[in-house]
Amino acid sequence: MHIVVLMKQVPGTSNVKMDENTGTMIRTEHENVMNPLDENALEAALEIRRLRDDVSVVGVSMGPPPAKRVLEEAIAMGADSGVLLSDRGFSGSDTLATAIPLARAAQVICGGRIGPDDLVLCGERATDGETGQVGPMVSSFLGVPVATYVRSIHVGDGYVDVERVVEDGFERLRLSLPAVLTVVKDINQPGFPTLDGKIAARSVKIPVLTLKDLGLSPDHTGLHGSPTRVVRVFRPKFSRDTVLYTQDNSGTATDNLLKFLDSRGLR
Ligand SMILES: Cc1cc2nc3c(=O)[nH]c(=O)nc-3n(C[C@H](O)[C@H](O)[C@H](O)COP(=O)(O)OP(=O)(O)OC[C@H]3O[C@@H](n4cnc5c(N)ncnc54)[C@H](O)[C@@H]3O)c2cc1C
Repeated sequence: MHIVVLMKQVPGTSNVKMDENTGTMIRTEHENVMNPLDENALEAALEIRRLRDDVSVVGVSMGPPPAKRVLEEAIAMGADSGVLLSDRGFSGSDTLATAIPLARAAQVICGGRIGPDDLVLCGERATDGETGQVGPMVSSFLGVPVATYVRSIHVGDGYVDVERVVEDGFERLRLSLPAVLTVVKDINQPGFPTLDGKIAARSVKIPVLTLKDLGLSPDHTGLHGSPTRVVRVFRPKFSRDTVLYTQDNSGTATDNLLKFLDSRGLR
């Protein structure tokens, strides 16, 4: 059984700055980390591996060369291997153009075609883009079922039972394998890197797959393959109109304040 865990490198801060001229994120100012929910997805994969002896856990990230670090971190935490998708042709990808290479990579990792025993896990959303679209899109490109907001996973023979969080409780679903699951924070407590894992991360070579390796054309991904266009990025400006009534013992300030409240229907 292959468990492919999608993991995105994101800025290690919620204070993400945007370049208002180019509409892109200013990434150089931040220390980048593994998307926190992807740590939960990885831990879920490791939990499945602890219960079975035929499981291989592979981390996959699409990003610039430094994204290799999240894969090394994944191996230090227990993943068997990692694969980086990196190519200039990927830059400027929107969610659709991100999901296509990730789905293709899952096929490659699973031996050319995702098989009846394979599983793709990812975070419910990334802390920077935050669309929550990539997991469902990957499932659609793979032509396999998806469950989002998953808080528990039990793998059976050819199927997976999950609990999925909904607004007023949770749903229990059974999906046939292969499938894609996007997980929530409550699913588990991610583990820490181990000494053995850190040693493995240093010695394991992380293969880098390009557009060509995945058999994709530049029309499938990057800016060319992205139907989304960022028209404008801006920081909302908050302004408050202030009216100051100064109390001068004449009582007019109070009267004016009451009139003001009346005019707004606040009294
Ligand atoms: C027009 C446009 C241009 C863009 N240009 C760029 C750009 O130049 N550079 C850039 O970095 N971003 C760019 N983005 C943002 C980029 O498209 C998104 O960051 C990316 O598609 C993932 O979307 P998300 O963060 O909303 O992921 P979500 O759907 O919220 O993520 C859910 C899960 O999917 C998985 N996942 C998501 N992305 C990846 C990934 N890259 N690798 C592995 N797993 C992943 C993770 O498991 C994650 O937890 C652009 C977006 C648009 C709309």
